[in-house]
Order: sequence, then structure tokens, then C-alpha cells
Amino acid sequence: MKEQTFTPLQPLIYDLSSPGREGVKLPKLDVPAAELPEGFARTDLDLPEVGELQAVRHFTGLSHLNFSIDGNLYPLGSCTMKYNPKVNEDAARLPGFAHLHPLADTESTQGALALIYQLQEWLGEIAGFPAVSVEPAAGAQGEFAGILMIRAYHHSRGDHKRTKIIVPNSAHGTNPATVTMAGLEAVELPSDDDGNVDLAALKAACDDTVAGMMITVPNTLGLFEGHILEVVRLVHECGGLMYMDGANMNSLLGIVKPGDLGFDVMHYNLHKTFSTPHGGGGPGSGAVGCTKALAPYLPGPIAGILAQASDEDDAPLYGLVMPEHSIGRLKAFHGNFGMHLRAYAYIRAYGAEGIRNVSRHAVLNANYLRAKLHDVYTVPYDRICGHEFVLEGHFEGVESVHALDISKRLMDFGIHPPTNYFPLIVPEALLIEPTETEDKATLDTFIEVMRQIASEARENPELLTSAPHHTPVSRVDEVRAAKQLVLCCRPAPTWDKEKA
Ligand SMILES: *Cc1c(COP(=O)(O)O)cnc(C)c1O
Repeated sequence: MKEQTFTPLQPLIYDLSSPGREGVKLPKLDVPAAELPEGFARTDLDLPEVGELQAVRHFTGLSHLNFSIDGNLYPLGSCTMKYNPKVNEDAARLPGFAHLHPLADTESTQGALALIYQLQEWLGEIAGFPAVSVEPAAGAQGEFAGILMIRAYHHSRGDHKRTKIIVPNSAHGTNPATVTMAGLEAVELPSDDDGNVDLAALKAACDDTVAGMMITVPNTLGLFEGHILEVVRLVHECGGLMYMDGANMNSLLGIVKPGDLGFDVMHYNLHKTFSTPHGGGGPGSGAVGCTKALAPYLPGPIAGILAQASDEDDAPLYGLVMPEHSIGRLKAFHGNFGMHLRAYAYIRAYGAEGIRNVSRHAVLNANYLRAKLHDVYTVPYDRICGHEFVLEGHFEGVESVHALDISKRLMDFGIHPPTNYFPLIVPEALLIEPTETEDKATLDTFIEVMRQIASEARENPELLTSAPHHTPVSRVDEVRAAKQLVLCCRPAPTWDKEKA
């Protein structure tokens, strides 16, 4: 397989600076010149003096250093880095939406409110919940909302002794963090040999101090919980509520509705499943769906119908309403409206059958990769997976090679590394999620590269442990790179050019 060369690092723009060079030609003054007030213009900035073209090349060069889904394969497990159709972006940039002021009144924002309302309805339909709030700004915030709702529900019934949330060890890392943030106690549950919840351990954990259970479906091994109905029944029987981490709805769309399985509350990640761009910290949308019993506790405001249409040709009057016992606001105004627009456009563009095919293909693609790689890599839970699966990134008899080295070597082929060292219950884990938007040719390339890397690990492990070889910056000291982040194109005093 051919390795890929990358845009080399451009010379630092400061090295190109030449005194007196100008990037912009201003027109001749046609008014009397005025003196700038004292101290108005800073003279200590020491800006580089370069021409326009050099400045353009500098910024274009920097943009090429960014890895993106629009450029290359991005099989980052648990992140659903799928292609974001450009029609979503067009929708989000429509001036009527993009320029809307968040304080504009109800009458003049009917279109936006109708859109939020419709999105709530569709998300509810997709997951089988009668009520949805699109206010939370991220998956983790949606989780936080859901657990606060469960807590508020028990408290409203005078039940204050329920302080525990059961969390399987195959849950996403945010789940136990959420429980702790919500002031409850996370009780870890082991998995059985098939990667399912250990039912005996669950039975033992269920009592009247359990507020609920928080379960990632499919779990972080990419597996659908085999005894899901039994799990839901056991928790409900002891008076707990069921929270589903639905960030990975990419494998369930149009196939299974969590509400039908008996879940009480769930969050969606619009910025994963419903294809809004993400990475780099946001923005996102962690919408929350729930049963009728929990609806009064939803974070708000949510879009509602204030007055029904008087006749068929008329539209109802939409407005924002605060659920009766809402846990409150999690985000200013309406949540991340740009994300709602993109998710709305995505669902409309695909339609019901298209949405179902998204999950069919996401699951097919992951299983295709698993089936084509399990003879050269250890697949610890080698059964039909959802949208992602886990490999062990090490080889018997090759001590020096770790999951990280495989990831670094993948970069030489222009492929983004999979998720490393997560889930924690698999040693040297590589969590791979191809998503449905990749075609067979791309998957075949990935398979070929992964198989080649497996051979290299045995024949020439040094090639892996010193990778990447073709990226503008090779291995960095990851601790120092995070702790002494250099965000300036000018060499910082501690910056070592040779090492970087
Ligand atoms: C991504 C993810 C989250 C967290 O979502 P954020 O938007 O990053 O806060 C939670 N659970 C699962 C299973 C996820 O994949």
C-alpha cells in the first residue's frame, strides 16, 4: 500500500519577514491626515512584514495541516466521524436563520420555532419517546440532564434514599462522570465473557437505594446488549429508572426504538448520528428524549404549540415553554440552533427509509472490517457488532509494538488513528468505527493497510515504533505537547525546532 506524503511545514512566517514589505496597498488619502491618539496603536507587536501572497500561503499551508473528514478516512471509534453533507451547511447558512437574533419575539421567529418543534417530534419518533428537549449542548450535558431528571423524579415522590446509579464497565467514560456530577454514586458493574452486562451482578446490585441504571447501547465494545429486556426489567422491578446513552444511535436508527425497549430517558448526539460537524470541542447538541412520566422534568425551554391552527391552511402558533418541573436551563437561549438546523436538514434529506439505511450500512461496514481483520488481529469479543468494534493492538512475541504504534503508523497512509486505549476493559484497545459514509473501496484500502501493518509489526517493528514518518511533525512528547501548547507561529522561547 502506498504511503502518503503530506504538505511539509511551511517556513515560519516570521522567517519570511523583510522590513518594509507590505501586504496591503491602501488608496491615497483624500482627507487630511489625523494623528492617532497617544498609545492608540501598539508598537510592541513585532508583526511580520510580508506580501499578500506569502500571507495567503501561510494560512493555506496551516489549513492543510488540519486532518479532516473531507480529506481522509477517520475511523475514530465512539465519535461517528461520518461525512457531513454540504446541504446541511447550506441550510445552516440561510440568512433568515443564521441572522436571527436570539431575543427576537415569538411572532417573528415562527419558522425557527416550528423547525425546533419538528426536530423534537422526529427525534421522539426515531427513539420512541413522547417528549424531547434539544437544549443541551453536548452528549455529556444531555447525560447530566437525564440523570438530574431521574433524581428529580425520585425526589418529587419523597424518595430520597435512591442515591446510586448502576453503570456497567463497558459504558462510555462520561457516564460515571455524569453520575458523580449529578451528586449520585456510580456503582460499577462487570461485563460477562460475551461483553454483556453480568446479570448475576446486576441482580445483586438492585435494591431500593438504586435511582437507576445508565447503559451505553451499543456498549463501548460496539456490542448490542444481549439481555437488554431482562436488564430493563430487573432495574424497573427494584424501582430504578433506565437511562440509555444513545450517542451511538448510528447503529439503531429505524431498527430499534429505545423507548420500546423500556428506557425512560436517553440522549442523542446530534453532532454524531445526525451529522453535524464536530471535533475540537464543539458546538454540539445532546438532545434528551424521555417518557411521559419524566417529561415535566426536561431541561428547557422546549418548543411547543401555543395555539392550534384555526383551519387547515393555517399554521399553529409555536412558542417556547418551560416544562412544569424542569431541571432548568443548561444553555443560553434555544441551545445550539445551528446544530438543530443541520440535524433537521439531515433527517429531511434522508427520509425514513434513508435513515434506516444509515444504520444498516454503518453496521455492515463495521462487520465487514471485523471479518476481514480478525485473522491477523485479536478481536476479543468476536461476534456481530454494531457500528464499531474493538481490536487488540498488539502481537504475540512482539513486545515493542503497542496500539499507539499501529495508530501512528496508520497516519503514514493518510488514515486517522482509531480510538486508542478505550474501552478500558480491553488491553491495547483500538476502537474502530468506519461509519456508513465510506464506500467499499475505502474500506478495502483500510483493510489492506491494517494487514500490512500487522506484517510490518513482525518483520520490522521499528517502522511502527518510530512512526509516523511522513507527517509534518513526527512523534511528539504528548505530555509536553498538551502542557506547553504552542499556539503561536512564532517560536516560543522554550520551543525546540529540532525536536518538533
Ligand atoms: C461521544 C459520546 C459521549 C459524549 O458526547 P459529547 O458530545 O462528546 O459530550 C457520550 N457517550 C458516548 C457513548 C459517546 O460516544
